Amino acid sequence: MTRRVYLDNNATTPVLPEVLEAMRPYFGERFGNASSIHQDGQSARGAVERSRELVARLLGAESSEIVFTSGGTEADNLAIAGMVKPGDHIVTSSVEHHAVLFTCRHLESIGCQVTYLPVNKSGLVDPDDLRRTLRPNTKLISIMAANNETGVLQPVDEIGKIAVEADIYFHTDAVQAAAKIPLDVNRIGCDLLSISGHKFHAPQGVGALYVRKRTQLQPLFYGGRHERSRRAGTENVPGIVGLGEAAKMAIEGFEDNEHKRLTTLRDRLEQAILAQVEQSGVNGAEAPRVPNTTNIYFDHIEGEALVIALDLKGLAVSTGAACSSGSTEVSHVLTAMGLPADRARASIRFSLGKQTTAEDIDFALALIPTTVARLRELSPTYRKVALRL
Ligand code: PLP
Repeated sequence: MTRRVYLDNNATTPVLPEVLEAMRPYFGERFGNASSIHQDGQSARGAVERSRELVARLLGAESSEIVFTSGGTEADNLAIAGMVKPGDHIVTSSVEHHAVLFTCRHLESIGCQVTYLPVNKSGLVDPDDLRRTLRPNTKLISIMAANNETGVLQPVDEIGKIAVEADIYFHTDAVQAAAKIPLDVNRIGCDLLSISGHKFHAPQGVGALYVRKRTQLQPLFYGGRHERSRRAGTENVPGIVGLGEAAKMAIEGFEDNEHKRLTTLRDRLEQAILAQVEQSGVNGAEAPRVPNTTNIYFDHIEGEALVIALDLKGLAVSTGAACSSGSTEVSHVLTAMGLPADRARASIRFSLGKQTTAEDIDFALALIPTTVARLRELSPTYRKVALRL
């Protein structure tokens, strides 16, 4: 079998063996519904509450402030749609994930006002722009902690201070930041914060929203009084147990300096690519970034073609852009950073994870420069430059 290396951990991560082991009993002998009052139910309830404490610890929150959801998308929808009503003003950024952007667009269609803040060429929001855009009816600021395509970290601590001073609720989508950098909801000063399990080695389909005490949040779903009436629906007990275990492992990872290990591997990958491939560069290089992500442009090629060529050779990476009905949209994130469309289309995201090794980086480096060179040979624009036509 050909070797495969997975450098697409911002898309999803493998469930770690320890996480799977922790979940296993809750598919079998401990199958109870966490709302049942008998022992089978109470055993499930105990597991859910232990996980709540672990997730709270990861975020510096209290366990009563954690609401389990089906993932990051639901957490974002709940955080935003649950806080506003028609006539309210929301401030977000132009580089948010679609879970935030499309929720805001929907809310605009029912009478909310939304400001989409621009970013500079490093992908950063300017806190002064935020200050200037606040209105008497601004109800919510929603600015992500880390960008999924570039890994760029927004100045959320500063944004939190602005929100506190102006007495406006602050939500941050921390789906790509959680477990990668230490997060503390009190340091950030946010009222709402979204995370998603499958981005840090828990299963797909489970996540959480941190909701600061006394925040008046309207639920999206109606039904039972689960999650203190903030999210109706029988809890996904195995998933929640997996989320808790992954949170515990992330906390241990910080103690073991896992983020430093990833930074070293990521920087080696990045520097070697830049040294070996001409007309390439890092998108967002000047901004602070999460340790595991690099987004690199390779001028004169189609990112999609590079993803496919690398995949055939055993390396899984991705373009940041969403692929819909066979045609690749240009990344709204890279476009907002001012990249021309052809450079945005020539950009690839590499995202490392807990299981990435130094050998994986060597494997990637053995493939990338040669594959780019081969694709460029076929590129009419590159030939023009190379032959100085
Ligand atoms: N927000 C960000 C920044 C993301 O990267 C993602 C997933 O890619 C989401 C939200 C959505 O999370 P989920 O896949 O759990 O719905």
